[in-house]
Amino acid sequence: MARIDLIETVGQWVAQAKRIIVFTGAGVSTESGIPDFRSPGGLWERYDPREFTFDRFVSSEKARTLYWKMHTELFELLAGVRPNRAHQACAELDYLEKLECVITQNVDNLHQRAGLPAEKVIEIHGNALQVGCLDCDARHSRAEVQEWLDAGEHAPVCRRCGGLLKPATISFGQAMPVDKMQEAEVRMRRCDLFIAIGSSLVVHPAALMPVYAKHAGARLVIINLTETPYDDQADLVIPGKAAEVMGQILDRAKAWLVN
Ligand code: NAD
Ligand code: ZN
Repeated sequence: MARIDLIETVGQWVAQAKRIIVFTGAGVSTESGIPDFRSPGGLWERYDPREFTFDRFVSSEKARTLYWKMHTELFELLAGVRPNRAHQACAELDYLEKLECVITQNVDNLHQRAGLPAEKVIEIHGNALQVGCLDCDARHSRAEVQEWLDAGEHAPVCRRCGGLLKPATISFGQAMPVDKMQEAEVRMRRCDLFIAIGSSLVVHPAALMPVYAKHAGARLVIINLTETPYDDQADLVIPGKAAEVMGQILDRAKAWLVN
């Protein structure tokens, strides 16, 4: 199928759908200027999050110091970027009352910044703009913690109980948030169209998502720059850039809706 026909078909499916789930990975934010793990020259070339396991974070002050250094860079990076057309498209789907929810692996908060209500975003890897205490669960403002870091603290502790503070993102070796995974599963059973964007779909639990969607009876659409292991199970695959492709799909969906 020619590309223009792929876009037209998915545009029509969006117009017909009532409960769309959009599943997003790092690739949805690369056009905003946040590199994925494979992009050269990015933050992840200097820091490998796979080295920052949860066990190391809790057992070593040195590891915590380095972790907060990486998150200081990430915090600065996030302050300077904006949502792109793909994030906006998700917010538009909600405005059109088509969106069940977005399930994202991203921690960059860009879906919310594009105007999607927080309750419509299930962040299975957490959010880098929130900080939690590992002992008492108190939440701290990321900006406030940054002030403490800028003032010379290397590994800030909870002002309420003295426990370790950690950005509210899921580290390697840290348990996935059970409540969020359950919510994602429940919502997945209700969806009629599942669009995976910018995710390699290789790592658990991302790799489970297309399977859930298929079992739920949903149509499966994959939009990604590179191939994924689920391409042959998808109803349609659009190789390409998230922002560009989603912008075109939304334009066609809206055209179908007014006709
Ligand atoms: P990933 O495995 O989901 O890979 C990203 C995929 O996006 C790749 O297959 C790549 O080909 C594709 N891609 C890149 N740019 C694209 C574009 N413009 N349009 C469409 N597809 C594009 O993710 P990863 O990079 O291995 O990161 C793993 C985890 O690390 C993420 O799940 C996330 O939790 C975290 N992470 C988050 C962010 C963020 O919050 N923005 C960024 C990097 C990593
Ligand atoms: Zn505490």
